[in-house]
Amino acid sequence: MFDAFAERLEEAWKKLRGQDKISEANIQDALKEVRRALLTADVNLQVVKQFIADVEEKAMGAEVIAGVRPDQQFIKIVNDELVAIMGESNVPLAHADQPPTVVLMAGLQGTGKTTASAKLALHLRKLNRSSLLVATDIYRPAAIDQLKTLGEQIDVPVFEMGTDADPVEIARQGVERAKAEGIDTVIVDTAGRLQIDTDMMAELARIKETIQPHDTLLVVDAMTGQEAATLTRTFDEEIGISGAILTKLDGDSRGGAALSVRRISGAPIKFVGMGEKVEALQPFYPDRMASRILG
Ligand code: GDP
Repeated sequence: MFDAFAERLEEAWKKLRGQDKISEANIQDALKEVRRALLTADVNLQVVKQFIADVEEKAMGAEVIAGVRPDQQFIKIVNDELVAIMGESNVPLAHADQPPTVVLMAGLQGTGKTTASAKLALHLRKLNRSSLLVATDIYRPAAIDQLKTLGEQIDVPVFEMGTDADPVEIARQGVERAKAEGIDTVIVDTAGRLQIDTDMMAELARIKETIQPHDTLLVVDAMTGQEAATLTRTFDEEIGISGAILTKLDGDSRGGAALSVRRISGAPIKFVGMGEKVEALQPFYPDRMASRILG
């Protein structure tokens, strides 16, 4: 696990050999390595600072464990802290007592929102939960077509009202349709812009207010890097999110966005996107992500 990180740390801790406990004097170089690893993984700078301060405090207060080298003990503290922040275990999608469960998808254009909506529907099918996909992106006809194509591919119905209807009304009627047809979960795909804008937020807020989702998932492109922090803060403040999906983790990204998203919103990453195909969705596992972030 995170061999490269461990190696670099070992370098930093060489002078420590012979010393048998973590102390203020010897910890600074190791903390520098942690800082470097997190910044390389594109964790937001503020989040890194806070993390380093937390680890320093934990490491300083750590009891010396007999037979454990201080560098190994330090790595464990770093890893445990990462896992603790990102959530100890996997958090599933909401499931309402009274169907339908309503899931609202939010995020910028191109992050993988529409793909993730279909991926979720397929995931739910495997859990014997039926879904209805709802297309509210009236600004890009291609987006509605894309959702319809994906729906056909996985044999999940798609509710749409073309591009002339009000997105809030489409969402509302979509939920009504699911209720009438006894469908377990409604997944409402929404319009994204290339950048956060006030109209988009206002529309999302109105949709949310109207359909009262059980889960509001922010879809974040793992390649977004540092920007994931601002994005998360804005969406969380403006509409409130209950979870996130980190997409494009099949790419080179070390996934530092996962740490930023969780730290800033407090909302768990529920799933990760591992490719363009509809099957490429996996539950989020904090321990795996911790290893990936440390490199
Ligand atoms: P939206 O604008 O947020 O709805 O984004 P789309 O769902 O249309 O996705 C934008 C592009 O990203 C498409 O080309 C998708 O195939 C691709 N994409 C989505 N999720 C993933 C993923 O997890 N990995 C990779 N490699 N590509 C993805």
